Amino acid sequence: DDERFQQAEMNIGMVGHVDHGKTTLTKALSGVWTDTHSEETRRGISIRLGYADTVLTRCPECDTYSVEEKCPECGAETEWLRRVSFVDSPGHETLMATMLSGAAIMDAAILVIAANEPCPQPQTREHLMALEIIGTEDVIVVQNKIDLVTPEEAREHYEQIVQFLEEETHLDPDKTPIIPVSAQHKANLDVLVEAMYEHFEPPEYDLDAPFRMYIARSFDVNKPGTRPSDLKGGVIGGAIVQGEVEIGDEIEIRPGIRVERYGRTEWEPVYTEVVSLHANVTPVERARPGGLVGIGTKLDPTMTKADRLSGQVAGEPDTLPPVRHELLLEVELLERVVGTEEERKVEPIRTNEVLMLTVGTATTVGVVTSARDDEIEIKLKQPVCAEEGDRVAISRRIQRWRLIGHGVIKG
Ligand code: GDP
Ligand code: MG
Repeated sequence: DDERFQQAEMNIGMVGHVDHGKTTLTKALSGVWTDTHSEETRRGISIRLGYADTVLTRCPECDTYSVEEKCPECGAETEWLRRVSFVDSPGHETLMATMLSGAAIMDAAILVIAANEPCPQPQTREHLMALEIIGTEDVIVVQNKIDLVTPEEAREHYEQIVQFLEEETHLDPDKTPIIPVSAQHKANLDVLVEAMYEHFEPPEYDLDAPFRMYIARSFDVNKPGTRPSDLKGGVIGGAIVQGEVEIGDEIEIRPGIRVERYGRTEWEPVYTEVVSLHANVTPVERARPGGLVGIGTKLDPTMTKADRLSGQVAGEPDTLPPVRHELLLEVELLERVVGTEEERKVEPIRTNEVLMLTVGTATTVGVVTSARDDEIEIKLKQPVCAEEGDRVAISRRIQRWRLIGHGVIKG
């Protein structure tokens, strides 16, 4: 029971346009169907961030890569290569905020592009731009649904992908694997697994720094009607970015909870104790960065239900970054708005305009109080816990929230 084997070494984002096959590919690689909420099932689209773990393996007899214990080609027992975690993001245009908050915890990404539609579709472009803004360069492109097109159509579509990467993205098409697969028929997944193992480098983490985690999800895990004496405390899930955490540790969560006091709104940090730990679904005694971690706490579960704490930061008490109600940002705007069908120039940011910011896993709107050339001050509706130097994705409402650039926190 080597601890190394219990926790994923990296988070791989599944990104791309709606219906291109992200959730199906996550399932093909991990066995887990991540659309589990009733609303997701009903609408047939991913709404929240989903996550699932898998182990990459290789057959010592015939060299086939897979995610199986027994080689699918020759039946021999496979060798363990690496455990990885998938963050499955929604591809629907109205759910860009959720995708952006997930991007903060992606160490690398698989961009899923369906071969039976012209490339790029609006969110193919927008998700790749989000990866660029957040700073993720490790990308593998999956050309999915290859079973639906002829070899000639597949080749033509492949050329469209290469052209798109070359002309519009931060990726070098010569260094970015483009792998045709059928997620539905599990075809060519061996080539994809090999590319994931060879191309993606697990990040190196600072284990000696104080524990810190970006919260991506939070839950009330109790079934309705549970007796009060049997209630389990609130659960937070996310990615540890530094340090380690153990059962029994005290943690702080910021910005915490909103309290009204004498007609004023204030935010108070929350302190609690770690009562259980899960690396994905495996119970562990101790957790470090890598993959997605669930922390059971003593918090009132109403505080954590329905992702109420997502976007907050947990960590060793008194070591967290400051809670900021205003941000001073050095900004860099895109030339054109991405994610729209028609081309549109990005206009300069104006005083009094409302923007949406993504800071780590947090999403908040704010009003611009001052705008000079490449520096803005913005007053946030909900405070964020963030460090100077952190990157911020900036979206503007153009029918809906659309990515227009990024900023770096100066204060
Ligand atoms: P997502 O929105 O990107 O998560 O897409 P889904 O995984 O929900 O897939 C959308 C639809 O495409 C579903 O009906 C899938 O069954 C179908 N699909 C996904 N992958 C493939 C594939 O490789 N081949 C075919 N024919 N259909 C696929
Ligand atoms: Mg999906």
